[in-house]
Amino acid sequence: MSPPTQDTIVPLLSEIFTRRGAEEYLGEPVTIAEHMLQCAQLAEDAGASEEIIVAALLHDVGHFTHDFPTDAADRGIDSRHEEAAAKILETFFPQIVVDGVRCHVAAKRYLCATDPDYFDNLSNASVQSLHLQGGPMSDEEVRAFERIPGYRDIVQIRVWDDLGKIPDARTFGFDHHAPMIERVLQRHKEAI
Ligand code: FE
Repeated sequence: MSPPTQDTIVPLLSEIFTRRGAEEYLGEPVTIAEHMLQCAQLAEDAGASEEIIVAALLHDVGHFTHDFPTDAADRGIDSRHEEAAAKILETFFPQIVVDGVRCHVAAKRYLCATDPDYFDNLSNASVQSLHLQGGPMSDEEVRAFERIPGYRDIVQIRVWDDLGKIPDARTFGFDHHAPMIERVLQRHKEAI
């Protein structure tokens, strides 16, 4: 299988949502596809830019990196799903989308370090994974995180990530977002 191209990346993402999306989301009461579609919906309802909506939609696509025809997973980076996804997306997507995906776990560690209320509202599964992910950020890590361009948007994606776990919530399907993804890809292509 050859690597995805500009023409095949959206159909590939659609196919992954359809075929793999029904899988359980790490102990949460929603499937991974439901979760990602809820995050995109929250972003859209909040009036976020199309780039941010797309980042919210794709933030957990790294759970499916074995479905991408690339050697990313073979290189041993699939244990960090956000890194694996970012590696695949950076070929096609603008930096804020890539960073929104790459940093959504870091943003959780950031919020745990900077927002006292945040930790108290995390789901049990999210608290469990926090320990594996390194716990709250150190002061130094917090300062480094705040130097990432658009870090506030990345933190906001994380907030939606934590909210998008509502059983049976009604959302648009992947097809609703496909034209938006194409526009984001096109704008990025024209900008580089
Ligand atoms: Fe998530």
